[in-house]
Amino acid sequence: MYEGAIQDLIDELGRLPGVGPKSAQRIAFHVLSADPADVTRLATALRKVKELVRFCTTCYNVAESEQCRICRDPRRTDEVLCVVEEPKDVVAIERTGEFRGRYHVLGGAINPLEGIGPDNLRIRELMARLSGGEVKELILATDPNTEGEATATYLALLVKPMGIAVTRLASGLPVGGDLEYADEITLGRAFEGRRAI
Ligand SMILES: [Zn+2]
Repeated sequence: MYEGAIQDLIDELGRLPGVGPKSAQRIAFHVLSADPADVTRLATALRKVKELVRFCTTCYNVAESEQCRICRDPRRTDEVLCVVEEPKDVVAIERTGEFRGRYHVLGGAINPLEGIGPDNLRIRELMARLSGGEVKELILATDPNTEGEATATYLALLVKPMGIAVTRLASGLPVGGDLEYADEITLGRAFEGRRAI
Protein backbone atom coordinates (compact mmCIF):
# COMPACT_ATOMS: atom_id res chain seq x y z
CA MET A 1 0.00 0.00 0.00
CA TYR A 2 2.74 2.45 0.97
CA GLU A 3 6.28 2.33 -0.23
CA GLY A 4 9.53 1.49 1.47
CA ALA A 5 10.22 1.97 5.16
CA ILE A 6 6.71 2.93 6.27
CA GLN A 7 5.24 -0.23 4.70
CA ASP A 8 8.03 -2.32 6.24
CA LEU A 9 7.11 -0.91 9.65
CA ILE A 10 3.38 -1.55 9.10
CA ASP A 11 4.18 -5.15 8.06
CA GLU A 12 6.37 -5.76 11.11
CA LEU A 13 3.85 -4.23 13.52
CA GLY A 14 1.08 -6.29 11.90
CA ARG A 15 2.93 -9.47 12.86
CA LEU A 16 2.65 -8.64 16.57
CA PRO A 17 -0.05 -10.43 18.60
CA GLY A 18 -3.27 -8.44 18.87
CA VAL A 19 -2.25 -5.84 16.29
CA GLY A 20 -4.51 -5.82 13.23
CA PRO A 21 -3.76 -4.04 9.94
CA LYS A 22 -5.54 -0.85 11.01
CA SER A 23 -3.72 -0.62 14.33
CA ALA A 24 -0.41 -1.34 12.58
CA GLN A 25 -1.04 1.57 10.23
CA ARG A 26 -2.06 3.88 13.08
CA ILE A 27 1.05 3.02 15.14
CA ALA A 28 3.34 3.40 12.12
CA PHE A 29 2.03 6.91 11.39
CA HIS A 30 2.24 7.79 15.07
CA VAL A 31 5.93 6.79 15.00
CA LEU A 32 6.43 8.84 11.84
CA SER A 33 5.15 12.01 13.49
CA ALA A 34 6.60 11.34 16.96
CA ASP A 35 9.54 13.13 18.58
CA PRO A 36 12.77 11.43 17.37
CA ALA A 37 13.93 11.03 21.01
CA ASP A 38 10.78 9.02 21.85
CA VAL A 39 11.29 6.78 18.83
CA THR A 40 14.93 6.19 19.76
CA ARG A 41 13.85 5.19 23.28
CA LEU A 42 11.37 2.69 21.84
CA ALA A 43 13.98 1.27 19.45
CA THR A 44 16.48 0.96 22.31
CA ALA A 45 13.93 -0.80 24.53
CA LEU A 46 13.19 -3.30 21.74
CA ARG A 47 16.87 -4.01 21.16
CA LYS A 48 17.69 -4.26 24.89
CA VAL A 49 14.93 -6.74 25.66
CA LYS A 50 16.51 -9.17 23.21
CA GLU A 51 20.06 -8.46 24.36
CA LEU A 52 19.59 -8.48 28.12
CA VAL A 53 16.56 -10.56 29.03
CA ARG A 54 16.94 -14.29 29.24
CA PHE A 55 15.31 -17.12 31.13
CA CYS A 56 16.27 -18.01 34.70
CA THR A 57 18.25 -21.25 34.65
CA THR A 58 16.33 -22.51 37.71
CA CYS A 59 12.68 -21.53 37.22
CA TYR A 60 12.57 -20.20 33.60
CA ASN A 61 11.07 -16.88 34.64
CA VAL A 62 12.49 -13.90 32.76
CA ALA A 63 15.78 -12.72 34.27
CA GLU A 64 18.67 -10.40 33.56
CA SER A 65 21.25 -12.70 35.13
CA GLU A 66 21.77 -16.44 35.56
CA GLN A 67 18.96 -16.56 38.11
CA CYS A 68 15.85 -14.40 38.44
CA ARG A 69 15.19 -12.05 41.37
CA ILE A 70 12.81 -14.56 43.01
CA CYS A 71 15.23 -17.52 42.86
CA ARG A 72 18.00 -15.31 44.29
CA ASP A 73 15.88 -14.14 47.25
CA PRO A 74 17.14 -15.99 50.38
CA ARG A 75 14.01 -15.03 52.38
CA ARG A 76 11.73 -17.21 50.27
CA THR A 77 11.06 -20.86 51.14
CA ASP A 78 12.18 -23.74 48.92
CA GLU A 79 9.47 -25.97 50.41
CA VAL A 80 6.60 -24.64 48.30
CA LEU A 81 6.87 -24.56 44.53
CA CYS A 82 4.23 -22.92 42.36
CA VAL A 83 3.90 -24.11 38.76
CA VAL A 84 2.66 -21.55 36.22
CA GLU A 85 2.41 -21.43 32.44
CA GLU A 86 4.11 -18.13 31.64
CA PRO A 87 6.28 -15.44 33.27
CA LYS A 88 3.26 -13.08 33.26
CA ASP A 89 1.55 -15.48 35.69
CA VAL A 90 4.47 -15.07 38.12
CA VAL A 91 3.84 -11.32 38.02
CA ALA A 92 0.10 -11.83 38.64
CA ILE A 93 0.73 -14.06 41.69
CA GLU A 94 3.45 -11.80 43.07
CA ARG A 95 0.96 -8.92 42.98
CA THR A 96 -1.27 -10.77 45.46
CA GLY A 97 1.53 -10.78 48.06
CA GLU A 98 0.24 -14.20 49.26
CA PHE A 99 3.09 -16.38 48.16
CA ARG A 100 6.59 -16.68 49.63
CA GLY A 101 7.78 -19.83 47.86
CA ARG A 102 9.45 -20.40 44.52
CA TYR A 103 8.12 -20.77 40.98
CA HIS A 104 8.51 -23.02 37.98
CA VAL A 105 7.48 -21.64 34.59
CA LEU A 106 6.39 -24.37 32.17
CA GLY A 107 6.42 -22.25 29.02
CA GLY A 108 2.81 -23.06 28.10
CA ALA A 109 0.21 -25.77 28.66
CA ILE A 110 -0.53 -29.15 27.13
CA ASN A 111 -2.55 -28.51 23.95
CA PRO A 112 -2.85 -31.51 21.60
CA LEU A 113 -4.65 -29.43 18.95
CA GLU A 114 -1.61 -27.20 18.63
CA GLY A 115 0.80 -30.11 18.93
CA ILE A 116 2.04 -29.09 22.39
CA GLY A 117 2.73 -32.17 24.49
CA PRO A 118 4.53 -32.64 27.83
CA ASP A 119 7.90 -32.84 26.04
CA ASN A 120 7.44 -29.30 24.70
CA LEU A 121 7.08 -27.90 28.23
CA ARG A 122 9.67 -27.66 31.00
CA ILE A 123 8.30 -30.70 32.80
CA ARG A 124 11.54 -32.69 32.73
CA GLU A 125 13.22 -29.70 34.39
CA LEU A 126 10.44 -29.58 37.00
CA MET A 127 10.88 -33.26 37.82
CA ALA A 128 14.63 -32.71 38.19
CA ARG A 129 13.97 -29.90 40.69
CA LEU A 130 11.50 -32.01 42.64
CA SER A 131 13.92 -34.93 42.87
CA GLY A 132 16.08 -32.72 45.12
CA GLY A 133 13.64 -33.55 47.94
CA GLU A 134 13.24 -30.04 49.36
CA VAL A 135 9.78 -29.34 47.95
CA LYS A 136 6.94 -30.35 50.31
CA GLU A 137 4.05 -28.78 48.37
CA LEU A 138 3.56 -28.26 44.67
CA ILE A 139 0.90 -25.66 43.78
CA LEU A 140 -0.51 -26.09 40.28
CA ALA A 141 -1.43 -22.57 39.17
CA THR A 142 -1.97 -23.26 35.50
CA ASP A 143 -4.80 -21.31 33.81
CA PRO A 144 -8.39 -22.30 34.69
CA ASN A 145 -9.16 -23.44 31.12
CA THR A 146 -9.13 -26.80 29.30
CA GLU A 147 -5.40 -26.78 28.55
CA GLY A 148 -4.46 -25.57 32.04
CA GLU A 149 -6.65 -28.22 33.69
CA ALA A 150 -5.21 -30.98 31.47
CA THR A 151 -1.69 -29.86 32.39
CA ALA A 152 -2.52 -29.78 36.11
CA THR A 153 -4.03 -33.28 35.96
CA TYR A 154 -1.01 -34.61 34.08
CA LEU A 155 1.42 -33.10 36.61
CA ALA A 156 -0.61 -34.30 39.61
CA LEU A 157 -0.43 -37.91 38.37
CA LEU A 158 3.30 -37.56 37.82
CA VAL A 159 4.17 -35.89 41.11
CA LYS A 160 1.87 -37.48 43.70
CA PRO A 161 3.77 -40.80 43.79
CA MET A 162 6.83 -38.81 44.91
CA GLY A 163 5.10 -38.08 48.24
CA ILE A 164 4.78 -34.34 47.58
CA ALA A 165 1.47 -32.61 48.45
CA VAL A 166 -0.13 -31.37 45.25
CA THR A 167 -2.63 -28.50 45.40
CA ARG A 168 -4.68 -26.55 42.87
CA LEU A 169 -5.90 -22.96 43.22
CA ALA A 170 -9.43 -22.74 44.62
CA SER A 171 -12.41 -21.96 42.49
CA GLY A 172 -13.47 -18.35 42.17
CA LEU A 173 -11.14 -17.83 39.26
CA PRO A 174 -13.12 -17.22 36.08
CA VAL A 175 -13.41 -20.55 34.28
CA GLY A 176 -11.95 -20.53 30.79
CA GLY A 177 -9.99 -17.46 31.76
CA ASP A 178 -6.40 -16.42 31.95
CA LEU A 179 -4.61 -16.15 35.30
CA GLU A 180 -3.10 -12.78 34.45
CA TYR A 181 -6.53 -11.17 34.09
CA ALA A 182 -7.73 -12.18 37.55
CA ASP A 183 -7.74 -9.28 39.99
CA GLU A 184 -5.40 -9.44 42.98
CA ILE A 185 -8.12 -10.15 45.53
CA THR A 186 -9.67 -13.03 43.57
CA LEU A 187 -6.29 -14.55 42.84
CA GLY A 188 -5.15 -14.02 46.44
CA ARG A 189 -8.26 -15.81 47.76
CA ALA A 190 -7.82 -18.63 45.25
CA PHE A 191 -4.30 -19.01 46.59
CA GLU A 192 -5.34 -19.13 50.24
CA GLY A 193 -8.12 -21.60 49.46
CA ARG A 194 -6.04 -23.97 47.37
CA ARG A 195 -7.03 -27.58 47.74
CA ALA A 196 -5.29 -30.94 47.49
CA ILE A 197 -5.88 -32.84 44.28
ZN1 LIG B 1 14.13 -18.10 38.76
